[in-house]
Amino acid sequence: MSNLFLRTLREDPADAEVPSHKLLVRGGFVRRAAPGIYSWLPLGKMVLDNVARVVREEMDAIGGQEVLLPALLPKEYYEATGRWEEYGDTLFRLKDRKGADYLLGPTHEELFTLLVKGEYSSYKDFPVVLYQIQEKFRDEARPRAGVLRGREFHMKDSYSFDIDDEGLRASYEAHRAAYIRIFDRLGLEYVIVSATSGAMGGSASEEFLAVAPSGEDTFVRSTESDYAANVEAVATPAPPALPVEGLPEAVVHHTPGTATIQTLVDFLNGAGLGRDFSEADTLKNLLVKTREPGAEEWKLLAIGLPGDREVDLKRLEAALEPTEVALLDEADFAANPFLAKGYIGPLALLDNKVRYLVDPRVVTGTTWVTGADRADHHVIGLVAGRDFTPDGVIDVAEVRDGDPSPDGRGTLYTSRGIEIGHIFQLGRKYTDSFQVDALGADGKPRRITMGSYGIGVSRAVACVVEQSHDDKGIVWPRAIAPADVHVVGTGKGEQIEEALRIGAELEARGLRVLVDDRKGVSPGVKFTDSELLGIPTGVIIGRGLKDGLVELRDRATGDREEVALAEIVDRTV
Ligand code: ATP
Ligand code: MG
Ligand code: MG
Ligand code: MG
Repeated sequence: MSNLFLRTLREDPADAEVPSHKLLVRGGFVRRAAPGIYSWLPLGKMVLDNVARVVREEMDAIGGQEVLLPALLPKEYYEATGRWEEYGDTLFRLKDRKGADYLLGPTHEELFTLLVKGEYSSYKDFPVVLYQIQEKFRDEARPRAGVLRGREFHMKDSYSFDIDDEGLRASYEAHRAAYIRIFDRLGLEYVIVSATSGAMGGSASEEFLAVAPSGEDTFVRSTESDYAANVEAVATPAPPALPVEGLPEAVVHHTPGTATIQTLVDFLNGAGLGRDFSEADTLKNLLVKTREPGAEEWKLLAIGLPGDREVDLKRLEAALEPTEVALLDEADFAANPFLAKGYIGPLALLDNKVRYLVDPRVVTGTTWVTGADRADHHVIGLVAGRDFTPDGVIDVAEVRDGDPSPDGRGTLYTSRGIEIGHIFQLGRKYTDSFQVDALGADGKPRRITMGSYGIGVSRAVACVVEQSHDDKGIVWPRAIAPADVHVVGTGKGEQIEEALRIGAELEARGLRVLVDDRKGVSPGVKFTDSELLGIPTGVIIGRGLKDGLVELRDRATGDREEVALAEIVDRTV
């Protein structure tokens, strides 16, 4: 430490509100360069690298191949997918000397898709998982809390490319398992929640949220099941991918409410139901549609405006004969708070009755239930709740502690979290944009399907501190601590010599060691610094040395023990 580029601070930075921001700055791990932009100093860089190493090891273990793509990107790729506009003010846009438009990459779906298109062309080439650990740039509206929400930050982003949906699901599951191992190794307390897919597009998506009161995300958990969702996604607790394949008919019921025809139209068009819906479809037409098994055309089956219920029932009954049909009405919606709130879910035929699957008597669990999953019924359509909106976003204020869980088991309670990872089944959004096909075994082209998966590497550092600190400083978990042992020599000559000697011995035994060999710094300052820096094990060489004793300290528990000098290395290893 006598020559380490480190100056700790006694005072919290004026702009810091959350513990990780205060402690990472005070401990000299990071320094602010501009709003939302931070430099990583030596100890901070070690922690950042340690997190990155854990991420790399687990990505490599699922067959990921590391690459490094540019962060400076030409406009045209993002224009092709619409994201040049979609990203709005969050995108850092710039021009080169010739006036051509560029951007600083906020995420890299476009470039990875084009990369794979350029190299691979046969089904034999797939699947492939590529990843990078790289700085990302987002002009966040509210950069906050130091590196928790930066405008330049470190992300691991990976992308899977598969020949079919089954492959995509396998790639997604492999990432999910890898993320669990990563966040476990980082010592984080986290939950996996259903998520909306946001600006990425695509379908199934889950977030990993580190539990922290300072978090910007609110999520709900059930008291009785493992149901968990970001409140942004509670309106659509099931994966939005609809089980339409092989459905004989589709029935859509929509009650009047805040959802407009356009929101329903948009949703239906995004759902791949096999035909295009337009606003020109009247509300009546939208309400109930059907398709004969195998038929190309959809036809109007029944209408669903409140005043027309008699007609609905008759026509629906006629079409679905001999099925007994029950159309949902206001009472159904009133009886199920989730339908009332904006749930969109499947309708099923069960016991010759039309049921909506969110009904706890019909099905438990949040997965879509299709004929393939349950032999005794099959899904025939969709039901949209009163406040349904296409992106599933509902007012937080709307989900309250004590609301019933959408899977029918228990009630919900809310907590705060910080998004540390996000996994998406993107599907073919990007491969459609860039027409990425591979030649199948049958000689026919197959459109490649994609997943994208992110981890906030720099954010994870801050999350660990949020969860692991006390009033004296940081308590690093060993896996990512800047060192295993902090050997602190107090006094002037002899103790410091001994500290350096013990440090060298511990290093020779494979430990990472930081030695406080500063002269002219009081023991009190050294101890305060040591607690602030948060290295898991402390070895204090002080006055006891003359009696052959040193002190072994555990940063997490605060335990202290006098140990004979001769034994300290063996005890520490
Ligand atoms: P948030 O909801 O917090 O804004 P996001 O959903 O926009 O995050 P993604 O696009 O899913 O983020 O990016 C993948 C990961 O990158 C996130 O899960 C998060 O851990 C990290 N990340 C995103 N934005 C930032 C940021 N501004 N600073 C630090 N890390 C970030
Ligand atoms: Mg964001
Ligand atoms: Mg998010
Ligand atoms: Mg996200």
